[in-house]
Formats: sequence, structure tokens, C-alpha cells
Amino acid sequence: MKALVYGGPGVKSWTDAPDPVILHPTDAVVQVDTTTICGTDLHILKGDVPAVQTGRILGHEGVGTVTEVGASVTSLAVGDRVIISCIKSCGHCANCAMGLFSHCLGDEGRSGIGWIFGHLIDGTQAEYVRVPYAENSLYKLPDGVPDTDAVMLSDILPTGFEIGVQYGQVKPGDVVAVIGAGPVGLAAIATAGLYGAATVVAIDRDTNRLEQSRQFGATDTVISGTGDWKQQVLALTDGAGVDVAIEAVGVPLTFTMATEIVRPGGHVANVGVHGKPVELHLEDLWIQNVTITTGLVNANTTRMLLKLVAQKKIPVDRLATHHFTFDQMLDAYDTFGRAAETKALKVVIS
Ligand code: NAD
Ligand code: ZN
Repeated sequence: MKALVYGGPGVKSWTDAPDPVILHPTDAVVQVDTTTICGTDLHILKGDVPAVQTGRILGHEGVGTVTEVGASVTSLAVGDRVIISCIKSCGHCANCAMGLFSHCLGDEGRSGIGWIFGHLIDGTQAEYVRVPYAENSLYKLPDGVPDTDAVMLSDILPTGFEIGVQYGQVKPGDVVAVIGAGPVGLAAIATAGLYGAATVVAIDRDTNRLEQSRQFGATDTVISGTGDWKQQVLALTDGAGVDVAIEAVGVPLTFTMATEIVRPGGHVANVGVHGKPVELHLEDLWIQNVTITTGLVNANTTRMLLKLVAQKKIPVDRLATHHFTFDQMLDAYDTFGRAAETKALKVVIS
């Protein structure tokens, strides 16, 4: 088969790779019909994630068709159309039982983040992929949901919802600020309304992203980097501060920004993956009674979100801005890597 293979920092190729096979009775092999590229793939390609070794097939988002199932897989059959969750999980270990799918204890000698595709196991930017724990890691797709919508359920929609909106404990009537209106921030914006947020303010330095955020449910937008960005946000709350500040960028500055706009007793939900330490000013925050949360997506809300996507209650269809074939994988990377110029949100490969 063909696959996008990591060749060390800065090096990638769309090349021949061995066809995946069933290694465990709980596995399935899936033909990838649609995949996409995530900011995390760019981090890996830069060499920011040393655990990813040369030769790894990248990608952790995908929709496909089951071509083979292991002996103990009974709830899936060859020919089923499925969403491939970015997090593989057995569904019954001590951590999975708590919903902490991203920390599945597994039994293939690796646990936790080892179960993200394209990290320590081969990924979805390929014609075929082996899916461990297929029964808990694949979600059957109803007919009416197109691949381009379904692929947003592999990672970004659960991430924005679980780590942003749910960890942030958004409540009816809340003022929610989302810093970073990339695909993950837009997913948080689009799902904040599920818990009744009254005001959702998108904050970004890219005006194009801010314009797009309104289509996902942002009621207000603020350009960061301007001298009075903070006053603009606080003005939405009569100066009190927002109830929930969601950080969806992953740089120290935006984490600090989130802590500066939250009200006493409010929540800072950090979603961004930080490659560098952030400054945590507990000397200021303790007296504000602020709750700070963060985490790796568990993808344990995928089935629920799929129902809402099937009913067109979440506008994920607006995320797929550019389309490529598998043979154009490198062009897709180029377009996604230059998102500020190409205005790409998600590039979809099918
Ligand atoms: P992205 O790079 O596409 O979007 C980031 C957005 O932040 C862009 O719109 C950019 O213009 C904006 N931005 C950058 N610097 C800024 C600044 N200084 N001020 C204001 N805005 C700024 O990324 P994405 O794919 O949307 O992902 C967002 C973050 O979520 C990344 O850090 C990603 O690694 C992380 N992530 C976390 C998890 C998790 O499990 N916690 C899962 C997936 C992704
Ligand atoms: Zn488990």
C-alpha cells in the first residue's frame, strides 16, 4: 500500500509500506477512505515529538471501511463504514472504566498516549490501517453522514468538546472565551452552545479565522495582539471576566491570556499542546478561586457527538475547506502547512 511515512525531522514521503495485518484477535484492518491532517502531524514532522520514530506512518484521523476483523471481534463486520477514533482503548481496563480512554492500560505493552495513531503505532494517512481494540475504537457510521463530516469526529470535535467545553464546565448563560480559532477552537465554539453558553467570544490574531468563527457560533470576536484586546473581552462581562476561558493554541502567551480574562471562581480549560513550559501565576490565581484543567482527549463522547452531527446540529461541514486525493498527500500537507495564506481549516484527503 501507499502511506505517508515519517523520515525524521523535516522529512516525509508518500511511499510504499507493508500492508497492515491482524496482530491480535481484537484488531481490525480498515481501508482508509478519508483522512485529514492535524496540527499535531506538523509538530511531529518538525521533530517536536521525539517518541515518534523514523518509518512511522503518520495521521490519527480517518473514516474507512472494515476489510478484516480479528477472531474476537463480533460487533463489526467486513464492509462496515467506520470512524477511526484517534484514541484506541480497550474499553474495560481500570482507566477505560473511568472514561479515561486516553490512558487505556491495554495489553500490547504500551499504554496511554502510545495508543494514538501515528505516534507509537502506525496511522491513518495510508490506504489501510490496523486498529487495535477495534470494537471500542471504531464507530459505525450511519448512511446519511458524509465522510467529510465524520472525519471531524476522529479527533477535533471530541477534543474541543471534552477538554474545552466539558472540562471547562460551561453552564447555561455563561460567557465563554475561546483563544485560538483553529479547527480545535472552532470545535469548542461549535459545542459550547450544547451546554447553553450565552456568549461565545472567539479570540485570534488571524482575522480570517475570526470571520469563520461566526459560522460556528461565535457571537463576538476579538483580535488578539491589539493593545485593548483584554478590555474588549472584559467589556462583554461588565468587567467581571468570562466564566470559562478555553485555550486552544498551545503557546505560553495564550495560556497567560486565558488566566487574565477569567472571573473569580471561573474556569480555564487548557486544550493546547504546549511544547514549552507555561507561566503559572499561582500567587495571583489562588485568590481568584480559579479552576484550571487540561488533558488529552479521551474521545469518549464520539457516539453522542455523532448523533448530533447526523442531525446537522453541529456545523462540522464548514471545516473541510480543501480537498485532495491520496496521491496528492504532499500537496495537502503543503496547503495545510500554509494555512494563513491558503485559509485552510481542515484539508480532506479521500
Ligand atoms: P491551529 O494551529 O490550526 O490553530 C491555532 C489557532 O491559534 C490559529 O487560528 C492561530 O491563528 C491562533 N493563534 C496562534 N497564536 C496565537 C496568539 N498568539 N494569539 C491568538 N491566537 C493565536 O491548531 P488546532 O489544530 O486548532 O489545534 C489547537 C491546539 O490544540 C494545538 O495546540 C493542538 O496541538 C491542540 N490539540 C490538543 C488535543 C488534546 O487532546 N488536548 C487534541 C488535539 C489538538
Ligand atoms: Zn483500557
